[in-house]
Amino acid sequence: MEREYELTGEQKKAYAENEADLSNFETQMRNIQGTANSRLAAANLRFDPDAPYCYQCPCEQFKGPQHSCARPTCGHSRLRHNGFI
Ligand SMILES: [Zn+2]
Ligand SMILES: [Zn+2]
Repeated sequence: MEREYELTGEQKKAYAENEADLSNFETQMRNIQGTANSRLAAANLRFDPDAPYCYQCPCEQFKGPQHSCARPTCGHSRLRHNGFI
């Protein structure tokens, strides 16, 4: 029997509600990222859809197992870097 079928109604509800919230969040985040990239491009700042640059400062990139930025002075969360989603 698949593990999936062992879930209780309450557990399925928890997953379903998480899915709904995260889907909403991803949609909003994509919109925010699109706007952020448009602003950077308009201001002649870094705009490269494939790179993990910051939306708020000229950091090099976000990387590492600690999810820290390559630029110590960045200090912005992973969420604020391109490529989060
Ligand atoms: Zn950074
Ligand atoms: Zn930054």
